[in-house]
Amino acid sequence: MEQQSILEAAITRHPTLPPEAVLKADLLRLGLRFDQGALVRAPSAEDGQQRHEHQPKSYFIFSFNMAPMAQFDEEQKWRAPEEIALTGGPYNLRRTIVSVRLNPRSPYRVAPREGALWLHAGDEPVAQVGLHDLPPHYTEKLPDGRPVAEIAPTIEWGYLLYLTVFRVCQYFGAKEECQFCDINNNYRQQIQEGRPYTGVKSVDDIVTALERVNASGDESQAYTITGGSVTSSLQGKNEVEFYAQYVEAIESHFPGRWISKVVAQAWPLESARRLKAAGAQIYHPNYEVWDPELFAKICPGKTRYVGRDEWIKRIVDAAEVFGPANVIPNFVSGVEMARPYGFTEVEEAIRSTTEGLNFFMAKGITPRFTTWCPEAMTPLGDANPDGAPLEYHLRLLETYRDTLRAHRLAPPPGYGEPGPGRAVFSVSPFMDVLEPEAVEITGA
Ligand code: SF4
Repeated sequence: MEQQSILEAAITRHPTLPPEAVLKADLLRLGLRFDQGALVRAPSAEDGQQRHEHQPKSYFIFSFNMAPMAQFDEEQKWRAPEEIALTGGPYNLRRTIVSVRLNPRSPYRVAPREGALWLHAGDEPVAQVGLHDLPPHYTEKLPDGRPVAEIAPTIEWGYLLYLTVFRVCQYFGAKEECQFCDINNNYRQQIQEGRPYTGVKSVDDIVTALERVNASGDESQAYTITGGSVTSSLQGKNEVEFYAQYVEAIESHFPGRWISKVVAQAWPLESARRLKAAGAQIYHPNYEVWDPELFAKICPGKTRYVGRDEWIKRIVDAAEVFGPANVIPNFVSGVEMARPYGFTEVEEAIRSTTEGLNFFMAKGITPRFTTWCPEAMTPLGDANPDGAPLEYHLRLLETYRDTLRAHRLAPPPGYGEPGPGRAVFSVSPFMDVLEPEAVEITGA
């Protein structure tokens, strides 16, 4: 079936989902490609006028690509945008922000059409494409010449500063790395491509970069401190001390300027308290996949060093420290259907994930999810180049929305506004399907 027919059938089958979320889910699982020359002079998202510079993909933690860098031409490597904004077209889409995942085999293609950029499903135009203008700090340099943008890129259409301070993970190799994760492989690829790509960013790097960001009038509202797991020590510090030092430095230089978020392992209670004392408001101890057997197979390092039961207990304990609404564990939606371990039926996978959602939401903890990107050169990506079925992703959106509603919880804080036409969270459509009554933490 042609891709547009598949899309239209999915929109019809799921009348309670906004068409924006259906297209976004399909784009995130299948990726997209750009016609040659499409990115040379793309129109601005703001005024539709021709201009020269848009915000390029920063490779902020993973590659989020479905083919190795070596397969892309220079234009895609260096000028592929971080995100696209979809509007209009045959479905009259409200503005929908989607993270760019390059896939040379994707049925979705961005190409110029009558002076504008359009997303095509096969040959059919499905939405007009806008690109985010280059943020002012992207042209600045640190005193040693490294780009500020490499230290402090923004995502989510300018909402979030994504500060990956440790670009590799000490879970190393097939027996320890999470089977969907390409953090180590992405680091190797970026270095091979000759990008400036700092393995461990210093506290000074971060503070100096944020001074430039702040001085540029940047409108970001939150930052995330994150990176790979530290199983032993890094620069003489254990994991919590290593990550807490960045939050402490940011909060002492720019008190309350941004919502502060940390994505890290599930830590024992004392370590969670240490992180909170450093100034973190929101803690993301990700659980990746709910089913116990799949967790063991897909997250072998976390299983070996911590164990799933202890991991879950730590997430629940962290709610005592941060408050349940500010503990937001992520899961990678779709890996529960990945061969060779995963569920083979959509409804089985949904049943398992719903069990996890109910477990956490009954305690006031609101998980969120990232749509699985089957990255090349990962065990699960190589075994499942087409990712999980679209039907799984759409059923998950319905289930997540309904479970949140059944527990009378608000959308998780720190993601900007929910709802179609307003959401900016770009690596999953979960915010695009929620109601607008978000309870937001403000940075002030
Ligand atoms: S803990 Fe797993 S998901 Fe996190 S960076 Fe390491 S390998 Fe990747």
